[in-house]
Amino acid sequence: MAVQRTFSILKPDATRRNLTGAINAMIEGTGLRIVAQKRVHMTAAQAGQFYAVHKERPFYGELVAQMSAAPVVVQVLEGENAIARYREVMGATNPANAAEGTIRKAYALSVGENSVHGSDAPETAAIEIAQFFSGNEIVG
Ligand code: ADP
Ligand code: MG
Repeated sequence: MAVQRTFSILKPDATRRNLTGAINAMIEGTGLRIVAQKRVHMTAAQAGQFYAVHKERPFYGELVAQMSAAPVVVQVLEGENAIARYREVMGATNPANAAEGTIRKAYALSVGENSVHGSDAPETAAIEIAQFFSGNEIVG
């Protein structure tokens, strides 16, 4: 498996509780490299576009409101098999089902406020990275 990039968000519930450093330590502990990072406050329109795939789901309105309520940290992570490796350390969407040692087990508040986002496939990773970073902002 070649070196891959994935897109990550440290969500408002995490930035509010000053967990940026703690979560970054877990990410770096897996060997993934943070090759781009910035703090942004998404508008509702940006959050709505980011999660457009979930538009028909009952939680969409709540999700968009949460994601635009406070700043987030957006990141590009790089490493071997980065997409699957980040999903693994993130843990299950619902923290009640997340394994020990995962970010969501350690920090998520609920299935909605679950501290982190990670891309689920190479195609979505490329789209999500391009939504927040230009090429020269990513330094591998
Ligand atoms: P993941 O973030 O693990 O890829 P999904 O892509 O299925 O999960 O969902 C996107 C986000 O929507 C989740 O991270 C979570 O914040 C929110 N979400 C998912 N399912 C629910 C739910 N049943 N109730 C409330 N929010 C949810
Ligand atoms: Mg998802």
